Amino acid sequence: MTERVPLHPDEALSIVQALPVATPREETVLLTEALDRALPRSVPAPMDSPPFDKAAMDGFAVRADDESERFRIVETIAAGDTPGGAAVPGGAGSTGPVGSTGATGGLQAGECARIMTGARVPVGTGKVVRVEFTEVNEGWMRLTQPEPLGNVIRRGENARAGSDLLTPRVLGPADIAVLAAMGIPSVSVAARPMVGIVATGSELRLPGESLSDGQIYNSNSFSLCAQARRAGALTTDYGIVRDDRAVMTQTIARALAESDVLLLSGGVSMGDYDYVPEVLAECGVTVRFHKLRIKPGKPTLFGTTDRGFVFGLPGNPASTYVLFELFVAPLIQRLMGLTHQPIVHRGELAVELSRRIADRVEYLPARIADGVVEPCAYRGSNHINGVADANCLIRMELDQTHIAQGSVVHVRQI
Ligand code: AMP
Ligand code: MG
Repeated sequence: MTERVPLHPDEALSIVQALPVATPREETVLLTEALDRALPRSVPAPMDSPPFDKAAMDGFAVRADDESERFRIVETIAAGDTPGGAAVPGGAGSTGPVGSTGATGGLQAGECARIMTGARVPVGTGKVVRVEFTEVNEGWMRLTQPEPLGNVIRRGENARAGSDLLTPRVLGPADIAVLAAMGIPSVSVAARPMVGIVATGSELRLPGESLSDGQIYNSNSFSLCAQARRAGALTTDYGIVRDDRAVMTQTIARALAESDVLLLSGGVSMGDYDYVPEVLAECGVTVRFHKLRIKPGKPTLFGTTDRGFVFGLPGNPASTYVLFELFVAPLIQRLMGLTHQPIVHRGELAVELSRRIADRVEYLPARIADGVVEPCAYRGSNHINGVADANCLIRMELDQTHIAQGSVVHVRQI
């Protein structure tokens, strides 16, 4: 299917997201390498966590129903000890002064065990009275105030063996801790998709080179590369190609063959030298849509090959940036087996927004802080500086000419 009338961006996103993608290839990485990697399948818990009932406080383990005034201290249990005196391998060893809960088959009424945070509680423990609420005298413990909490973390309370330990997600530091806490040393993550980047434009030079009259620096290759990496992809930068059909065809054909997603910037518009659409057709790309009812980014093109996906993004740096966030990042996530959920915040608009022409969905860079949304100083799609100051995008809908000051708006985090 090829859409050639300007599409609503929501419809365009549905087209991108409805295309089938292969189940991601997976690779096993050590936990130390797992940060920010995509977990495409749930990981089952291999054991109960914690694996035993353990003390959440330093204090004294007592029976639940014990109304005694004083408790005889029958043993001391350190983290790593087994109640009853048999130290676990590598444990500190029990130093119980008299008797032991192990020997008596658990705590009896009137008995308590001095216990450290993290230690396994004796059989029969109902609660751990925190040490601050007690007084100790010659092998006996007395409560100085009632303990309102249980202070015992029960076996399997954090996770039950066989349950979903982690569902699909991008792995953060706490997720990595969850895996480590289960004794899992490595994790199977989605292979990173390969994103190729080509900047088209005869006016472009690389930072570090000198500019002749009429030339500008290529910034899009750098933003796209950084955005693609942040989204979880590997990148190949194919550099700058000048607006010459033959040169463009050569580079684009090679990049298409090597990329899961190819990103082109520039050359998709109505100019005499905007060769990208013809070159893509020549390279066997099926165009799925070209032109959107969106600002910035109207000339955006999206197509597919047998091997992958290609976006022709307009060259204006703010367009390129915004379009990546709206369309490319979700696709990269999907290629890694994840569902993209944009992060949306609600806030009060600090100023009135108005526009005369409302024939496109418009995205405006803004900053949200403390529930207040302040549009950035932004002069349009050529003005990447305005985007750099932003942490979110305001969206104005088709036919929406005003948003009143103080209105509650939903903004998309970028
Ligand atoms: P185009 O989409 O090729 O018509 O380009 C639109 C505008 O974006 C022009 O002002 C270009 O000079 C500028 N532009 C194109 N490519 C880049 C790039 N890679 N980096 C920065 N600006 C660019
Ligand atoms: Mg151009």
